[in-house]
Amino acid sequence: MFNTRSKSRRAPQGFQPPQRGALPQGRAAAAHGWSSNSQLHPFTRKDENSRLFHYEQKVKQAFAEIEPTLRMLSAAQHEADFVGRAQALVKSELGLELPESLLVDSWIKPLDIGRLYAWCVFETFRQMSDEFFDTRPLADADDFEFQRFLEQCGFHTLDVSPCADGRLAHVIRYVLRLPYKAVRRKSYAGAMFDVEDSLQKWIETEMLRHREGSPNQAAVPTRYLKAAVYHHSSSKPESEGCAAHGSDTQKAAAAALAKLQAFRQSVENGFCCGASIDLLLIGMDTDNDVIRLHLPDANGEMDVDRYVDAIDLFNATRNSSGLDAEAAVKRYLEDMSLACGVSQPTAGMMRLSARLLCGNLSQIDYVRQYHGGCYSDIGHQERFIGMGIGFEEVQLRNLTYFAYLQTVEEGAKDMDVGIKIFTGLNARRGLPIPVVIRNDYHGQVPGARDRAEARCHQLDNALRNRFRDFADRGLLHTLLMVRDCQNDGMAEVVGSSLDLQQQEAH
Ligand SMILES: [Zn+2]
Repeated sequence: MFNTRSKSRRAPQGFQPPQRGALPQGRAAAAHGWSSNSQLHPFTRKDENSRLFHYEQKVKQAFAEIEPTLRMLSAAQHEADFVGRAQALVKSELGLELPESLLVDSWIKPLDIGRLYAWCVFETFRQMSDEFFDTRPLADADDFEFQRFLEQCGFHTLDVSPCADGRLAHVIRYVLRLPYKAVRRKSYAGAMFDVEDSLQKWIETEMLRHREGSPNQAAVPTRYLKAAVYHHSSSKPESEGCAAHGSDTQKAAAAALAKLQAFRQSVENGFCCGASIDLLLIGMDTDNDVIRLHLPDANGEMDVDRYVDAIDLFNATRNSSGLDAEAAVKRYLEDMSLACGVSQPTAGMMRLSARLLCGNLSQIDYVRQYHGGCYSDIGHQERFIGMGIGFEEVQLRNLTYFAYLQTVEEGAKDMDVGIKIFTGLNARRGLPIPVVIRNDYHGQVPGARDRAEARCHQLDNALRNRFRDFADRGLLHTLLMVRDCQNDGMAEVVGSSLDLQQQEAH
């Protein structure tokens, strides 16, 4: 369970309280002239916004407090009764109990703040992960309703590949307001998803429809829908866009579209009888979560220069009645298609697009309500790298840089981008780069857990080999976890570079 921390915590005597307010609220709000009392869009789901914010704030604050707390610890390491007072401080500020072995020698040698830092990040993540699977703070009561809706729109699966950038990690649950369990998410640097991996997933999905009628019968004429999400930064387009595409928005959009088309082509070439899929290209402004939807025409074709901007929709509908939001958005989309002189997408694609845009209107207000209309951390502020397969529990912005991969060699580009980002965030300041290595497995497959654990260790070794310079200097730490996703269990720790018992035994 996540520790519930008292609101009126007080640091033990002798310690200076840490700098608070790491969450970016007031400053950005004032800069944009927007206060939380300003009028919300009539389609905004106010209660959902409040629930999502409460969760985001709690988790991000827990990570934000690690560094100021360790600064206090560092300053006090030669004081009398340091170990007892340090434990009291860390318990009170972070809700954690440090391993004694990280503290006991502080009278004779300097505290290893890097190891303490990595331990606190890993433990905070572990607690967040346990809480996520235990209490389902972001669960959506409408998982089944969404699946039914998707099928009514003519699709049986929604598979989304955003960029691996941590500023897009909340794209499913927050930015698009979709139930995370009903959507497949797999992130790649630059949204450059693996076509073979997607093809494999498509085959698996179609096989399940034939064999089990899940999620619907193969005879039902629905299709697999693949979406890619690229991104840009409206306030700093030259420097805070997509690192994998040199911050070039046009290039990022064109590359994502080309990947989508290659996936469709591979399905059409590889399977007869008119097999095909549908595609959707989405752009996202990481400053304020406003999306651009590249609506496909009647033939399913999209254009990088033709899109609906959610902020235009927001302004055009801000005086509407809040009664039938999706119908109003659909009318807006129909008008836009007419104005552009392109053929309209299928009725189902139109309905789904209206729903995605509607969800985004709530998120636009969310950023206005709680972040002053523009995040103050418009650049990278991730806390750790998540590497391997899994991470359903990470649905928050700027917390994790993802590297979905089976082997380090195969995901080398994604890892290089991640290490580059964290060199700037951590290593340059002497703080280690925390990497959580994860492998989810299907519990009904004999031996799957052991193989998942073995893969974690292989990834760990390969990571250390590739970034030996960081590892040798104590600037790379890892936590190894596996999870039975079939049985929806909690993630379990199977190793760590901070494995204190093991190191003490050597
Ligand atoms: Zn990117």
